[in-house]
Amino acid sequence: TLRVRFAPSPTGMFHVGGARSALFNWALAEQSGGRFVLRVEDTDAARNRPEWTEGIISALAWIGIGGESPYFEGPYFQSAYEEQHRAAVAKLVADGKAYFCTCTRDDVKARTGSEHQGYDGFCRTRGLTEGAVRFRTPDEGVTVVDDLVRGRVEFPNKAMEDFVVARGDGSPLFVLANVVDDIEMRITHVVRAEEHLSNTPKQQLLWDALGVAPPVWAHIPVIVNEKRQKLSKRRDKVALESYRDEGYLAEAMVNYLMLLGWGPGDDREIMPWSEMVPLFKLSDVNPSPAFFDEKKLRAFNGEYIRALPLEVFVRRCEPFLDPSWGRETFAKVAALAQTRISVLSEITANVDFLFLDEPVFDPASWAKAMKAGAREILSGYLARLETVSFDPESLKTALEEVGLEQGLKLGKAQAPVRVAVTGRTVGLPLFESIEVLGRERTLDRLRAALA
Ligand code: GLU
Repeated sequence: TLRVRFAPSPTGMFHVGGARSALFNWALAEQSGGRFVLRVEDTDAARNRPEWTEGIISALAWIGIGGESPYFEGPYFQSAYEEQHRAAVAKLVADGKAYFCTCTRDDVKARTGSEHQGYDGFCRTRGLTEGAVRFRTPDEGVTVVDDLVRGRVEFPNKAMEDFVVARGDGSPLFVLANVVDDIEMRITHVVRAEEHLSNTPKQQLLWDALGVAPPVWAHIPVIVNEKRQKLSKRRDKVALESYRDEGYLAEAMVNYLMLLGWGPGDDREIMPWSEMVPLFKLSDVNPSPAFFDEKKLRAFNGEYIRALPLEVFVRRCEPFLDPSWGRETFAKVAALAQTRISVLSEITANVDFLFLDEPVFDPASWAKAMKAGAREILSGYLARLETVSFDPESLKTALEEVGLEQGLKLGKAQAPVRVAVTGRTVGLPLFESIEVLGRERTLDRLRAALA
């Protein structure tokens, strides 16, 4: 049975690219009844923090990976396998496939005359019994990596130096630990980011040298921003958590991430996880860079929000509502808001006017709406609101009439009223908003705006 793994290093926030890798692996496990192994590669003690490990586990849970699922296994921690790593190094040495080396960078430079020259093999035949351990790479021929996404990739062995698998103190390097764990965990398919492709010929040689048939490889495309730069945590919003906290729905995020390099092969884009899983194929993954388009993600999220049953939408808005805000009042406008917002955090600005003593004051919106004729509109409307019947239709007719007197169309006449009542130039439909706000509070706000 298929066994895949996701092997994050807990050195920072959980990246959307990591989430995409995890989802591709998860789809493979689920579609084939296989296993998805979570292995936390926590051997870089200086850069790892436990809270980042927790962040990874909770972010994975958020996108549906983990816990009770029969396809999930782990988490395992790489640091717990150090003995196996050391044993593998010892075996390579014992088999003559690796050797000790005490050369410093300067030694190599002095011999080869260049910084950029790879290791020259000086210690290959010295028979040392301590030092760093280097793997003996073949001098001739090519190492061929058959990659399900990238096809056949050839690496000339001449260009591959005898690379280090363990440091002088015996601690193993990533390139080795990663292979030993994959062997230990009986991984059949390694599906990971393209940036690891350069490690793959070395790792394939290690699999062979350790006497195990290498896995199926698949290197999935880099993710780039709108400037075609690789997404980076310094430049771009990459933390999955920040999307969650902003009010992206997990199901929209999952849908969007799956389309970074893959598609179901027809024009469909909005598609639930359960429909994507059986269709997912590594051989359909496009090797060219995938554009992370935040605008498109927002649009997806808006669609997912609108598809929620109203009571679910209300529940999901909960974290974004001030605890003191009356939920009955909120329920009256929830359906209006649901059709308008693209991320849940936008709910706050759409409904706060109902709960604050005074609407928020934004000088720019105010300046924009309070143009010529605005005062007349406000005072004219104020007069009508004393007596008008308080339903959206009548509220609208009343404003239309006031506008007419000033020679303003409804759209123009609405602007000062909207800002006076809600504090903002855009928001929920105005007359429904006024109805829910109620006569007294609306009158107060118009008066305050005129004062
Ligand atoms: N710990 C490595 C990383 O986070 C994993 C590489 C791999 O998937 O093999 O990049």
